[in-house]
Amino acid sequence: MHKIYSFGYLIKVLILYISLLSGSAYGEVRYVIAISIDGGRGDLIKGFIESAPAEFPNFKRLRELSASTFNARCDYTESITIPDHLCMLTGRPVRRPAGLPATVQHGIISDAPAPPETVHNSGLLPGTYKASIFDVVHDRGFGTALYMGKTRLQICERSWNSVNGAPDTVGVDNGRNKLDIRLISEAVGTATSDMVAGFVGTIKNSTLKNFTIFQIADTDYAGHSEGWTSANGLYRTTMRVADGWLGQILDAVFNNPALAGKTAILLTADHGGGTPATSHSDATNATNYTIPFMFFAPGISGGSNIYDYFDNRFEPGASAPDYTNPRQPMRNGDVANLSAALLGFPTVPGSLMIPELKKPLTIIHGSDTATISWPLYLTGYTLETTDELVTGTWTTVISGVIESNYQNTYTIASPSRVRFFRLRKPTDPASSPLKATIRTGKQLSR
Ligand SMILES: [Zn+2]
Repeated sequence: MHKIYSFGYLIKVLILYISLLSGSAYGEVRYVIAISIDGGRGDLIKGFIESAPAEFPNFKRLRELSASTFNARCDYTESITIPDHLCMLTGRPVRRPAGLPATVQHGIISDAPAPPETVHNSGLLPGTYKASIFDVVHDRGFGTALYMGKTRLQICERSWNSVNGAPDTVGVDNGRNKLDIRLISEAVGTATSDMVAGFVGTIKNSTLKNFTIFQIADTDYAGHSEGWTSANGLYRTTMRVADGWLGQILDAVFNNPALAGKTAILLTADHGGGTPATSHSDATNATNYTIPFMFFAPGISGGSNIYDYFDNRFEPGASAPDYTNPRQPMRNGDVANLSAALLGFPTVPGSLMIPELKKPLTIIHGSDTATISWPLYLTGYTLETTDELVTGTWTTVISGVIESNYQNTYTIASPSRVRFFRLRKPTDPASSPLKATIRTGKQLSR
């Protein structure tokens, strides 16, 4: 006798089969590349992309693949290279904002710190260790890299080297030196193109570190030389060269299948420029504090607004909110903790700037199934389920999660009764907020 199997039955078998094969296959981000375009003024880069896309194909490409804004902010009090790069690495403001703890600043206001100055032993808060995104990543046994185009930025590696980095007290001892690759060469002649070639080589041969910061300094020097302007001149032509370097990095990432669905790219700037015409030191001027922030990651909708992705970041209009304003803009200082979040790590100890990614959990009902999904960039979150919201126990969904179209998806059959799902990090309290919770099935009357 033949038994006729229903289509629904076959789907269930298929789902079970995929579940068994995949085990716990939560997709996640493993690599973050943060690119700093020194002196990259937000409105000018936006104008270049929109008015001359053929001239700036790679800024345009990254924008089309990213959630972005050209109206992010640098530090509130300083719009200069060294202090703002230290914001990116530590997630701290340069100076202590009024009303916040004295230990919250990184305190480096000098734009030319010299040996033996580090972020820990000099500036406005000497004697306090300031951890960085390098600490967070390296202490967990992951790789880090720093490429920079101004020798004045050596404080960024000197502060976290084998002498000045903190002892690693997280799990296995990975040492005090928090940097696996450090390359700092003054951006003259072919220095930056050589540095790009070296970095691109690591992407191509799959030795890319888990967190990289790559600074392009030439653009800033061009602004100092001939001013920050969209006119045909040195700033524009240098930005075109930077576009080419960006293109080499993007090509290398997108041509390496091992990085697909595992790589995030952040692009921002330390500051803008143009007031006065060939400088940028006045942090109260919009030309100087307006910077881009592009955020590419698996699960991000290309060409979208970055402000749609965070619970606690808000488009600032023309204003420059200070750090005590409840409506914080995206800042270059968000690089540290956005990178930590994307890699599934805790925030940088002592940091202030903590952008909170929204936790979208969506459900699609099929005829006999319900499919729950969330974007891959929510690294480290696991799906939990319960039948009873008030008194029930949440259990982790171990198997059956598959990676599909840059989402993690989990399909259940016949969700006729109510079941609740939420995303949670292991480090979240058991009673963590239910904002990412959804309900499947119909509420039965009782
Ligand atoms: Zn400058």
